Amino acid sequence: VLGGLTLLFAVACVFVSHLMSKRAMIPIAQSLARQREFVADASHELRTPLSVLMSSIETLGMRRQAAPNENEDEDRFETRTLGYMKDEVKGMTRLVGDLLYLARSDSGAEQLQLTQFDLRASAERTLHGLAPLFEAKQILHDLDAPDKLLVYGDEQRLLQLLVILVDNAVKYSPSGTLVRVKLAEEKQRGHRVLAIAVIDQGIGIPAEEQEKIFERFYREDKTRSRHLGGHGLGLAIAKRIAAACGGTIQVASRLGQGSAFIVRIPISA
Ligand code: ADP
Repeated sequence: VLGGLTLLFAVACVFVSHLMSKRAMIPIAQSLARQREFVADASHELRTPLSVLMSSIETLGMRRQAAPNENEDEDRFETRTLGYMKDEVKGMTRLVGDLLYLARSDSGAEQLQLTQFDLRASAERTLHGLAPLFEAKQILHDLDAPDKLLVYGDEQRLLQLLVILVDNAVKYSPSGTLVRVKLAEEKQRGHRVLAIAVIDQGIGIPAEEQEKIFERFYREDKTRSRHLGGHGLGLAIAKRIAAACGGTIQVASRLGQGSAFIVRIPISA
């Protein structure tokens, strides 16, 4: 089934490049709109088979737990294979979700859902939910924020942005280091601004790469980061969310010392 999905993706890629090769004949804006529509449709269609695949893998896993293979070697092999399948399907589901979000926001179909909420409490809950991620790499974390930080914004998207930055901070840091999350209200030329910072003590990003990492599918020094998974869409989405909220995202980093990603969003009355 995974082979089938890979084939489906390959067909999708051929189709996109076919569309691109015809670009000279169709006005660029129209061709771009078609590509986006295609990516959105393809991603949408892939969601159902992926969730069917995931639940089939889970069912198989439960059946195997109830009745393990008596041959120990075969049992280990089957457990490992199911684990790989689960990881791949999870990764592909995330990729499809990311592509869908970008395609929808490109076409203006993504609307912010604005409510008032306490960002400190939400960030605390989110970080608590990420405990397995920190524990797996033995990375410490702390949250520096006012006791209460009421904001009017899209809670789900702001937390998605936070998760992207924290996930990267963990991914690109060695064990035993600290990831700090800072939330604050700042004043910028007389205007109130919400600042969200994620600071790590990780591998850092070379100066010449710091602009490029926000581009779609860009992965800095492929040999360095390929084994860490990811598709190079996280920061493109983070930038898109910050922009949708009228804000910006910046990075300050030193190779071998760590990185600080700072999001600033204006707080309107
Ligand atoms: P992904 O992590 O899936 O590759 P992203 O768009 O989130 O994609 O990040 C793009 C690239 O930026 C990464 O491949 C990595 O090289 C670099 N990067 C992002 N966050 C950090 C970080 N905190 N420390 C070092 N490098 C980072």
